[in-house]
Amino acid sequence: MDQAKVLVIASGNAGKVREFSHLLAALDLEIRPQPPGLEVEETGSTFADNARLKATAVAKATGHWALADDSGLCVDALGGAPGVHSARYAKSDQARIARLLAELAAANGSTDPEHGQGNRRAQFVAALAVADPSGAIQLEVEGHCPGEILSSPRGEGGFGYDPVFYVPEAGQTFAEMAKELKGRIGHRGRAFELLQPQLRVLLA
Ligand code: IMP
Repeated sequence: MDQAKVLVIASGNAGKVREFSHLLAALDLEIRPQPPGLEVEETGSTFADNARLKATAVAKATGHWALADDSGLCVDALGGAPGVHSARYAKSDQARIARLLAELAAANGSTDPEHGQGNRRAQFVAALAVADPSGAIQLEVEGHCPGEILSSPRGEGGFGYDPVFYVPEAGQTFAEMAKELKGRIGHRGRAFELLQPQLRVLLA
């Protein structure tokens, strides 16, 4: 019998590795976390650039197939910010949300962060990239989830910008949504839906 191929998840985050393992459970792969101490700088100007950088670096360092992701929130009225800087926008989730609401209100002509008028459109984006053991990129996909930024947080679940990201098709914020629903209609879930069939063919 053939041995299962090894796929290294290019992330130091144990939660992300668990989430990816779960999503990839249907494929006959041996999923491994990236080796400790391997830090890849996210210097790209797009989510796809950063996902590629991480996948290539981890594949080269380990000699195995590697899967990387990069994600974030893009707000139309802020010219796509915070974008690739979503994680570094401020020091805590609360501070990131406060900065986002203040900047969006300012872009829409108000000094009140709870000012809810103007263009509130936004989208979450998740880019995934798979590199072969030589580091060459073999597969790339991008998932998007369109929504609107609320003027104050709603809901207790999720993380990051979830409480202010309202998804009209669900009538809820990401933070109010059941995990299963966010997994299905969220940006990462959508990216995975695109990745799975192609990955199955590639690693068969
Ligand atoms: P990275 O993809 O781990 O580099 O981090 C992306 C950053 O974007 C996170 O730290 C969050 O601030 C934000 N982000 C990405 N996905 C989500 C999400 O599903 N909900 C809320 N925030 C998110």
